[in-house]
Amino acid sequence: RSFSDIGLAEWAINTCKELGMKKPTPVQQHCIPHILAGEDVLGLAQTGSGKTAAFALPILQKLAKDPYGVFALVVTPTRELAYQLSEQFRALGSGLHLRCTVIVGGMDMITQAQTLMQRPHIVIATPGRVKALLDGNPDMAAVFSNAKFLVLDEADRVLDVGFEEELRVIFQCLPKTRQTLLFSATMTSDLQTLLELSANKAYFYEA
Ligand code: AMP
Repeated sequence: RSFSDIGLAEWAINTCKELGMKKPTPVQQHCIPHILAGEDVLGLAQTGSGKTAAFALPILQKLAKDPYGVFALVVTPTRELAYQLSEQFRALGSGLHLRCTVIVGGMDMITQAQTLMQRPHIVIATPGRVKALLDGNPDMAAVFSNAKFLVLDEADRVLDVGFEEELRVIFQCLPKTRQTLLFSATMTSDLQTLLELSANKAYFYEA
């Protein structure tokens, strides 16, 4: 199956070509149509499988049609992963006037709060810092009140580090109508609990 077969727009297919992505990887073939159809997705996929583009491409395609406010919050366990994700979003969204920001620890929180108030399209964050910004701050929570996507990348690692409480706060700040996309290398009982917390029937992909 080609990128066109799985519903990607012309501009996105062209960007993929420019980036040397000739055909979708299995995780992309399976997950992209479900995400475009508005479903929640739980994907069990390793790093290197192309999982980032599997969620970034359909998010960008939907954002291109309706670029209003913070469109997606992507939560990932480490700063390094957050920067890597933002590079992929920028590369895949190079055809759009994309505003993407990274919110991680070790940076000035006031500057981060100001950046968020400007409503970037994509926010990529580590759980501790985003919770610290949201906690007891209705203005910050309002930034995410129209978000269409919550992505939890490397969910098993996020949970390993013990970020349940942070995730609970983050989950509550996003509208219930959002799509939730969880990507994890392994299925764990913690992840099962998290799925119950997000309480939607999800499409389940396993390599
Ligand atoms: P990830 O699994 O998201 O960490 O992606 C691993 C690497 O695969 C990244 O450097 C991507 O640029 C690359 N990649 C993702 N999708 C494709 C594809 N369809 N064809 C070729 N390379 C890809």
